[in-house]
Amino acid sequence: MDKILLEKLSNAFGPPGEETEPAKILIAELEGYADEVRTDKMGNVFFTHKGDEEAPLIMLAAHTDEVGVLITDIDDNGFLRFHPWGIVANVLPGQRIVLRGKKGNLYGILGTKPPHVLSAAERKAAIPSDQLFLDIGASTREMAEAKGAYIGMKGVFDVQFKDLGDGFLWGKAFDDRVGCYVMCEVFKWVKDKPYNVVAVGTVQEEVGLRGSKTAAWQVDPDYGLALENTFAMDMPGVAPHKQSAGLHKGPVVTIADRSVITHPKVLGCIQEAAAAEGIPYQYKKIPSGGTDAGSIHLTKAGIPSGVIANPGRYIHGPCGITTEEDIKNTVALVKAFIKRISS
Ligand SMILES: [Zn+2]
Repeated sequence: MDKILLEKLSNAFGPPGEETEPAKILIAELEGYADEVRTDKMGNVFFTHKGDEEAPLIMLAAHTDEVGVLITDIDDNGFLRFHPWGIVANVLPGQRIVLRGKKGNLYGILGTKPPHVLSAAERKAAIPSDQLFLDIGASTREMAEAKGAYIGMKGVFDVQFKDLGDGFLWGKAFDDRVGCYVMCEVFKWVKDKPYNVVAVGTVQEEVGLRGSKTAAWQVDPDYGLALENTFAMDMPGVAPHKQSAGLHKGPVVTIADRSVITHPKVLGCIQEAAAAEGIPYQYKKIPSGGTDAGSIHLTKAGIPSGVIANPGRYIHGPCGITTEEDIKNTVALVKAFIKRISS
């Protein structure tokens, strides 16, 4: 696989509402393969491949945004307060955050009191995010603003992609830059094929599946497929029946989640395609979370839709872990699905 591309996608800065950087990577990667490239008013980016006229139109969606923070206040002592987007407080204390200020990147730490001064009760309790603050190295509001900090500034975890060896990869924003990566591989493959595919890098998924809503309305496809990176739970402390998915078990197929019940034709076609080509897959065992399929399938008179996701541990945290083997099998299953639903 092209680990350099995944590294670029993972490291790109793209909190909700500020997805230009990952979108540009997709454009640079795919414009040579597309019959048409277009960006809409929301920031969604569309890559069209025209196949046979009779072939159904398939919309692939991978979201370009990632979990992050929105700066809501700068206090007199230069500390920043924030609203978390898609992040829960228990992973936040002590994390490093990169922010896109008016003068370029700023770096902040989610400050915590040292253990020496915590009471016994405080040591045990999770700190709610409204009690956390970002320290960017400023002693007054004026100093913070002079560095380029502003209210409305956004930030993401400051984590760089790493190849851990033995097929294991780590990085931030694997939800959903792994989905973007899968979409790139599939769209390149479709170039000489008779299938009709529009691949969309969608915006603002993490704040409520928003970009895919307007994107699907424009594409008006026959079928929708969200390409995701969903939570693998094969880790200590999680009972086997609660492990929604695991690494090394192939792509995760959604039967239902909070946002969609996969259309029987789409689900059947994914199952048949996997069986025909011998691609391993697993079902998402816990029907929580939502994806772009949630908004795509409710577009216009309804669009049969589903989800194929790569399994990844620690999604919505600072750093995820996934495997090359799972990504390869996810790419293979999406290709097999397109073939089968188009025939
Ligand atoms: Zn996602």
